[in-house]
Amino acid sequence: MIYLDYAATTPIDPRVFDMMLPYFRESFGNPSSIHRYGQKAETAIESAREKVAAVLHCRADEIIFTSCGSESDNLALRGAALARRNASGEKWILTAHTEHHAVSKTAIQLEKEYGFQLEWLDLDEFGAVMPVSLSKAVCKDTALASVMYANNEIGTINPISELAEIAKANNILFHTDAVQAAAYLDVNVEKLGVDLMSLGGHKFYGPKGVGALYIRKGTKLIPHLTGGGQEFSLRAGTQNVPYIVGFAEALSLASEERGQRIAHVKPLRDQIIGRVLEEIPDALLTGHPENRLPNHASFVFKDVDGNLLLQLLDSAGFACSSGSACKTGNPEPSEVITSLGYSRDWALGSLRITLGVDSTPEHVDMFVNTLPGLVEKVRELK
Ligand SMILES: *Cc1c(COP(=O)(O)O)cnc(C)c1O
Repeated sequence: MIYLDYAATTPIDPRVFDMMLPYFRESFGNPSSIHRYGQKAETAIESAREKVAAVLHCRADEIIFTSCGSESDNLALRGAALARRNASGEKWILTAHTEHHAVSKTAIQLEKEYGFQLEWLDLDEFGAVMPVSLSKAVCKDTALASVMYANNEIGTINPISELAEIAKANNILFHTDAVQAAAYLDVNVEKLGVDLMSLGGHKFYGPKGVGALYIRKGTKLIPHLTGGGQEFSLRAGTQNVPYIVGFAEALSLASEERGQRIAHVKPLRDQIIGRVLEEIPDALLTGHPENRLPNHASFVFKDVDGNLLLQLLDSAGFACSSGSACKTGNPEPSEVITSLGYSRDWALGSLRITLGVDSTPEHVDMFVNTLPGLVEKVRELK
């Protein structure tokens, strides 16, 4: 079986795993305890926080640990929207149809259940948010804008620093979901200029079930988990010490090894894109041709049932992904693909191939030798 779905999740790096192990048994203390067990756990969390801060170029007390990327997105949006409205009455939230559901469904909930107003920003043909649409949408009642750094389905990278600058000039908060981006892109928050940034461990060879949120000093959030005073009273609950240790190490390695990792995956990605477009009729690349994640290839095929294609690929030994939500009988094209303007006969046939540390030229060869025949087979079955 060949794994080509690193955007869904990554295996844990053995170096990260080894670093986590002592915190399950020997050093199992509660970081809030006064005694030495507690101190040891607290020290581990505080050095993890400093490690993350070093990668992000921020202060350690601007990082809070959460249970996943989705939680970071939820806390950023709901926490900031409620705090802004309490402080000064702003009620508009700006975001885009290309966002991960952790952002878009939170924004929709804020509209439906909390009385906020929601505006969707315009996208270009590659699914990037257009800075001019943010300039046009902001008004004195805008609380915040949320735009992802890099898209998980189509790989497109958004112009975050440009967008954040517009937000700053208009005195609104700017959040970016960098969960997919952090494996390959620079997450320096000073350069990016963001107020809030979400990260998730399992997209960069860290453990699942742990994330972080960068919160620029002075940004007020209403906590969504109340209880003990953990994480600067923004996120109650005894910290998951081994996972936090693993998260920080994985992020640190991603930052140190970024150059090598890009050099490994990018030529493989380019080979997939080149050969798929050349060898498969009625195939289009989705997302931006150059300004995209270096490990990410995504396509739509006309008149192809994307879910059936994934099943045939699985039988042939390849683990890939599509954009469409897998609803048996009544497949719906993904909102991200639809928001790019593809008609249903294209949008239902989406395929995402994402590479990573264990990908090899042989894997890519085997994949591109197999795919054209399977696409043809799915079209015949229609
Ligand atoms: C995976 C992902 C998330 C969710 O992260 P979890 O840690 O799985 O909750 C959010 N946003 C993007 C862009 C992602 O790729």
